[in-house]
Amino acid sequence: MIMIQVMPGVRAIADQNGTRVRQHGRRTIARTIQQGGTPPSACRGRRIVIVGGGFGGLACARALAGAEAQVTLVDRRNHHLFQPLLYQVSTAALSPADIAAPIRRVLARARNVDVVLADVTGVDTAGRTVKLADGADLPFDQLVLATGSAYNYFAHPEWAPLAPAPKSIADARTIRARLLRAFEEAEHCGDPGRRAALMTIVVVGGGPTGVEMAGTTAELARYTLRGDFRHIDPAAARVILVEAGPRLLGAFPEKLGDYAAKRLRRMGVEVRLGGAVERIEDGAVVVSGERIEAANVVWGAGIRAAEGAAWIGGTDDRGGRIAVDGNLAVTGQRDIYALGDVALFRQDGAPLPALAQVAQQQGHHLGRALRKAGPPPPYRYRTRGDTAVIGRHAAVYVYGRFTLTGRAAWLLWSIVHVYLLIGFERRASVMAQWIWRYFTFERGARLID
Ligand SMILES: Cc1cc2nc3c(=O)[nH]c(=O)nc-3n(C[C@H](O)[C@H](O)[C@H](O)COP(=O)(O)OP(=O)(O)OC[C@H]3O[C@@H](n4cnc5c(N)ncnc54)[C@H](O)[C@@H]3O)c2cc1C
Repeated sequence: MIMIQVMPGVRAIADQNGTRVRQHGRRTIARTIQQGGTPPSACRGRRIVIVGGGFGGLACARALAGAEAQVTLVDRRNHHLFQPLLYQVSTAALSPADIAAPIRRVLARARNVDVVLADVTGVDTAGRTVKLADGADLPFDQLVLATGSAYNYFAHPEWAPLAPAPKSIADARTIRARLLRAFEEAEHCGDPGRRAALMTIVVVGGGPTGVEMAGTTAELARYTLRGDFRHIDPAAARVILVEAGPRLLGAFPEKLGDYAAKRLRRMGVEVRLGGAVERIEDGAVVVSGERIEAANVVWGAGIRAAEGAAWIGGTDDRGGRIAVDGNLAVTGQRDIYALGDVALFRQDGAPLPALAQVAQQQGHHLGRALRKAGPPPPYRYRTRGDTAVIGRHAAVYVYGRFTLTGRAAWLLWSIVHVYLLIGFERRASVMAQWIWRYFTFERGARLID
């Protein structure tokens, strides 16, 4: 008999063929995995461990479904998160469950894929094991690192609690609660200075996340909250978007950045270009020497790779990414691969951007390749175009030299994002809410928790 993990914290006992016979307690699995015992599903072929169930890791696991290999996907969260719509959870437009799908459910039909809810803390490259936070070791023949990225506070980690960034469900809920609470406090605040600060929101970073956050926050204040308060006018809220560079949407053609700035200004957003954040304090931010009293500061400026590089000997990359070869193999490592935001993949001499479609394509490519023995073939990124939304009827899209702005781009953005959500239920729910919101400006997730 061997002990196996069925769900986090739930164990079953299996016979030598991997058949589950009864539930058991937590400790045994660690020992069994350490001893190289059989993981949950009947184990045949190579043991492939994927760390991360985001866009890249999940695509890789899905592409390995039914392969002659025992695949184990490890993630510290039990859900796959559709990060491109996190800003809508942060601004009360969508509920967390609309953009998160349980990884176990997504992979339920892939019988050779096990899901383990655990924090990975390291990799023993010589011993060929992945180290889990609870002390367990997970043996592998091939390892895929897909741990994603984290926001970069540029050597100021102390700013993180003062200026949360939309990266996880918890972050989005924090931002939503702080935004809504500030309006509630302003409603019965007798001090005009304090009231103005409560109704000032500073968004840091003029990339897609900052533009989306600023635009949708302005719409929340101007339209959704209109008429709900008796003593304040939410439309008088100041939304300030601060970008250190000379223009918005730096990765897009210049005319699209200019379009975004023009549209945001028309929506009442103060766009400050060339403004570097020097300090963030509780209730204030200092931008290029000017102190702005603001109860809410939201961070969306730059990312760095998540942990992963240190596990396999470090990296020279300033963004902390793991250098990979043209076939996604980690440079200098045997049978270890990296993809998505955590990987530094150069194509035609330039690193690929940190985008969901890059991670997804790489995951799919690698998963297909690992179905067979031998080294994976080279990978090449094929863009389907980049898009960012600014607000109602306002978005930008670029595909090579082709660009699109306004209503057409906004419709395209909406269709693509609904299509990319995992599961019919989520697509239907998000589509229904967007249609409702389109006609009513209402936002159903205005909860302070
Ligand atoms: C607010 C926001 C908006 C965005 N908008 C867009 C957009 O419009 N279009 C676009 O293409 N891209 C967008 N992106 C970028 C896109 O989400 C990322 O490029 C993509 O998620 C990268 O995929 P990944 O698989 O590399 O990492 P992720 O999707 O981040 O997944 C990483 C996974 O690894 C897990 N993990 C990390 N460390 C550990 C550990 N130690 N142990 C266990 N598990 C671990 C995490 O829990 C996570 O599930 C946006 C990102 C953000 C934050």
